[in-house]
Amino acid sequence: MSPPNWKAFRENLRAWYRPERRPMPWKQASDPYRIWLSEIILQQTRVEQGLPYFERFVHAYPNVEALAAAPDDEVMKQWEGLGYYSRARNLLRAARLVAGSMDGHFPDTYAGLLQLPGVGPYTAAAIASFAFGRQVAVLDGNVYRVLARYAGDATPTDESRSRKYFQQLADRAMADTPAAIFNQAIMDFGALVCTPKRADCAHCPLAADCRALKEGRVYQLPVKGKKAPRRARFFHYLVVSDARDRYLLHRREESDVWRELYQFPLLETETADLSAEQLYRRVEWPTWLRPEELAAGRRSRVFQQQLSHQTISAVFHEFTQAPAAGAPPLPYAWVARTAFDAYAFPRLITRFLEDNRPTLGF
Ligand code: SF4
Repeated sequence: MSPPNWKAFRENLRAWYRPERRPMPWKQASDPYRIWLSEIILQQTRVEQGLPYFERFVHAYPNVEALAAAPDDEVMKQWEGLGYYSRARNLLRAARLVAGSMDGHFPDTYAGLLQLPGVGPYTAAAIASFAFGRQVAVLDGNVYRVLARYAGDATPTDESRSRKYFQQLADRAMADTPAAIFNQAIMDFGALVCTPKRADCAHCPLAADCRALKEGRVYQLPVKGKKAPRRARFFHYLVVSDARDRYLLHRREESDVWRELYQFPLLETETADLSAEQLYRRVEWPTWLRPEELAAGRRSRVFQQQLSHQTISAVFHEFTQAPAAGAPPLPYAWVARTAFDAYAFPRLITRFLEDNRPTLGF
């Protein structure tokens, strides 16, 4: 079989491309700070969801120095709801590195950008090409899909060898087309025309040479390897309030999920179906919380959140603590209900708070 017609690919793609087809506030900008910020926010996030966050961040922190100087908790609060909180922590670390030892200047090469926390091959290629005009092709989900379909290539996209292989395809497809244009064009094309479930093959400018179309394999490509099953986890949050309308909270330090976000005291067990009385008897129960000083209240429905490798089911158990509650051990603290807006919570807890706004007054 002859190799894919990459010349026709880039020429037709370039003829199709119009920046205004998919307008983004950072498009055609060359400010590395905005490009970096948008790319970090949009990782694993839909554009419609990420856009308001980008705008909020740029407004609150117009440059890398402003972001670097922001308190951690404030940035986590701005990030609240976006998920994948390690991205927010890396965002801050990278901002402080750039504002500090790099005098406010982002590295201007692909290799240099890869040194920044949270910047992987895709983000480094995007910043290097969009901000600094470097000739590097990006690889994201859209690019994998367009390349795999056009070339009729069934190489799995999620194996360790795939990145290198698809990078070679992308480089061949791009050749000497300016990377900033090619990258934007192929990503827009994947988002607007060669979409995962409804590719517009009938009006596609690449159709004449598209192997997947010719072979009737459009929706079989790209090929993905088998995913590991998601791990099921069961969280029981203890929503303990006192007579002064304060609640016990602490900042999560575990590195598995939601590190540095705030939560109620938590027991993790092997089932969602446990009553307050059963929880008291569990070895996971915090010994400093005395059941005899608590009055058990309502138990919530089960809230679920899907993360990339796990499904978390959470139940919220309400308790009231006897009026003479003393100071809890660190890192726990009593926090007034009216101050909750200043704390960043995982989405799961925010949903519980929203559900209970009328009764608990959150
Ligand atoms: S013909 Fe269809 S599958 Fe092929 S590149 Fe165009 S939209 Fe994608």
